[in-house]
Amino acid sequence: MTSPSQISVVRRGLMLVLSSPSGAGKSTLARLLLEKHPEIHLSVSVTTRDKRPSEVEGIHYHFIKRERFEKLRDAGDLLESAEVHGNFYGTPREAVENALVAGKDVLFDIDYQGTLQLYDKMRTDIVGVFILPPSATELKTRLERRAEDASGVIEKRLKNARTEIAHWEHYDYVLVNEDLGETFRSLEAILAAERLRRERQLGLPPIVDRLDQELATLTS
Ligand code: ADP
Ligand code: 5GP
Repeated sequence: MTSPSQISVVRRGLMLVLSSPSGAGKSTLARLLLEKHPEIHLSVSVTTRDKRPSEVEGIHYHFIKRERFEKLRDAGDLLESAEVHGNFYGTPREAVENALVAGKDVLFDIDYQGTLQLYDKMRTDIVGVFILPPSATELKTRLERRAEDASGVIEKRLKNARTEIAHWEHYDYVLVNEDLGETFRSLEAILAAERLRRERQLGLPPIVDRLDQELATLTS
């Protein structure tokens, strides 16, 4: 007979979406999450933006030309796409679908426009987490300290922060990223709870049926 500790419930993969104004810390949180939970699949976006000095093709993004982006988008190969800070970004469809079918959780670092498009297509699979910076000056400091963008680009991203933040209410969870360790622990708690949601645990009905039969026998 199976003991309770041997029960493992088949689960449908969830889509963990992180959004924030640029510099609030979502890439940092995503990196920490992937280091600690290597079973999570990161959706690597395509972008027409120039590569930053620290970035690696295929790891952080697939860096592509505008013509190629338009071809992918028009062929329906992108699950969602948007123009953000003057560049185009999109989520390759096939990699995400393959990961979900394999029961893997998929992590997305995308803006609110992309999140809203994903909601339209697969709302029940998505857990939306919005990251806020503790203050505007701290956001500016982080963008400057990251030192990967030109000053004009930082200015543009700070201006766009208001538009991004205006969409916070579309998300299931909101984290204020003041202390990184604390924010990370909250993100892990969200993941743990969402993995246990009844509707994601596909194998529950037979387990509940079996318990019912066992209890019927035990109490007859
Ligand atoms: P985003 O991906 O949202 O644009 P990043 O993850 O690149 O932001 O973070 C921007 C900068 O802020 C990075 O230099 C990162 O190391 C730093 N950072 C992230 N979270 C915190 C935090 N809680 N406290 C201080 N610095 C942080
Ligand atoms: P960055 O240039 O700082 O890497 O990203 C800029 C913004 O684009 C961030 O808000 C990031 O979440 C968003 N982004 C990155 N990839 C995608 C994507 O595939 N789709 C959408 N909609 N936004 C993306």
